[in-house]
Amino acid sequence: MNELDSELVRGHLAALGYRFVPHAEGADVVLYNTCSVREQAEQKVWSRLGIMGKRKQAGAAGTAESGWSSGFVLGVIGCMAEREGPTMMRRFPQVDLMCGPGELDKLPMLIDNACRTRALDSLERAEARAASIALQGNNHRRSSTLAAASDNLEMLDLSRAFDPDRAEHAGRSAYVRITRGCNKFCTYCVVPFTRGAEVHRPPQAIIDECRRLADAGVIEITLLGQTVNHYHYVHGAAVGADGMELPQVGGRANGQRSAVSAQRSTSFADLLRRIHDEVPTIERLRFVTSYPRDFGDDVLAVMRDSPRICRYLHVPAQSGSNRILRMMNRGYSVQEYLDFIERARAFLPDVCIAGDFIVGFPTETDDDFAQTCELLERVRLKNSFIFKYSPRPGTTAIERFEDDVPDDVKRRRNNALLALQGRISAEVHREWEGREVDVFVERISRTSGSSDRRTSRAPHGVELRWERKGTARSMRASHASAEVQEVQLSGRTSGDLIVVFSSTDQNPEGLVGRIVRARVVGSAPLILRGEVIHK
Ligand code: SAM
Ligand code: SF4
Repeated sequence: MNELDSELVRGHLAALGYRFVPHAEGADVVLYNTCSVREQAEQKVWSRLGIMGKRKQAGAAGTAESGWSSGFVLGVIGCMAEREGPTMMRRFPQVDLMCGPGELDKLPMLIDNACRTRALDSLERAEARAASIALQGNNHRRSSTLAAASDNLEMLDLSRAFDPDRAEHAGRSAYVRITRGCNKFCTYCVVPFTRGAEVHRPPQAIIDECRRLADAGVIEITLLGQTVNHYHYVHGAAVGADGMELPQVGGRANGQRSAVSAQRSTSFADLLRRIHDEVPTIERLRFVTSYPRDFGDDVLAVMRDSPRICRYLHVPAQSGSNRILRMMNRGYSVQEYLDFIERARAFLPDVCIAGDFIVGFPTETDDDFAQTCELLERVRLKNSFIFKYSPRPGTTAIERFEDDVPDDVKRRRNNALLALQGRISAEVHREWEGREVDVFVERISRTSGSSDRRTSRAPHGVELRWERKGTARSMRASHASAEVQEVQLSGRTSGDLIVVFSSTDQNPEGLVGRIVRARVVGSAPLILRGEVIHK
């Protein structure tokens, strides 16, 4: 979500004539896009602001380090601005502007205001600074359908200036937001407070955006929403003066349509089908993040019948204990999660499923944790994102429950769950050996090592170690000293499994952003090892 916000802000500012520099040094405006989901992420921002604040002060005192623009504008955007705005302004008077994720359309105006403020005296500056804050909490502008009717934020998505040269994976992969905000209020989570109420974008706006991206060369689109399967748009409920449909607050959560709204609404399943059918040059369509409740068979059926929709689901479970799930306000039981996974696999036998877990939620006992391990054993996810519970100010959990699981216990459970997931991931990967897969090539790196055993650091930021399946020990020994330089590529299958393979292609860079056919010849907990099939 934050990546997409950064891209939209960049495009908006570039269209207004701003130029981007590779380092903060030398910039006239320095912006931090922030996340509040866990405390650790916020700590990093506080520390960066401390450093930048000092640089800014030095600039104002005329003692700026060489290369630094004196009196540059320092801004904080995103969830942390929304959540910590007033405190941040007090703690770091050097911060000139603050803009919440629901107000990003106002950013150019705020930057302009902050630039002008630099020329003012201190009293005028204090007044002007107040005008450099746009936080949702200040005006609740997205609190109703009518408010959404004047929603300029939609314009930020609509006026997206996609830059294939800057985009990842040779400009052939892009995110498209379908829903903003969240109405779930899981007790541990800041998102409903920082990103506001759930707002669904009109389907036509989403399809048009997908088509524009496809015209710009994109072949892989990831649809984004906090509970993406809750997408639901009732036509005619919010229409602007120009007759165009506007984003819509809330929506039906169960994916079922009533008789009244049957012809007049677009469900998530309808939206997926329309994008798949109406933008055929999109070779891969995926979506994150799915909520385990209210995921209708209609969506699974569309996935099954649409070959270009990826066989991938990211469905956080969070815990395997019903008691903890209730305390988290997740609204489903362990059995319901299991039922959903079973249903998904019945429709899509090849589907790869990833999840999220939180360990050390208040009152979590060894027994609760054992139930989480048991759930993971049963559902055999391909990978999980595992987090230690982080109490977040403003959430129900921090107000109602004591953070009573000691940090060393959280750490121990975190490591134990990671180890379990590692074993399961290795088993899941092994099942793919010998099969053929389509790989969307994302990255290229050059490796060195012996011809049968290599190490690479570059792809996906992890150290990859692999051994070719079936390599005899003696052969390995005899080749051990033969150092080779090799081009290594990495990418993902439709089910989001990482595949690493070497290339003898004359122009390996040209493969990035393309889909190639590969045979899986080996595996490890994090990756599959492939060989390109030349046809
Ligand atoms: N909307 C998605 C869902 O509920 O499935 C998840 C979005 S959240 C930004 C990403 C993940 O961060 C969550 O699935 C959860 O595991 C984790 N998370 C959120 N708040 C947390 C907290 N206070 N402490 C630890 N992990 C947290
Ligand atoms: Fe946070 Fe829950 Fe909403 Fe996900 S569904 S964003 S965890 S409140």
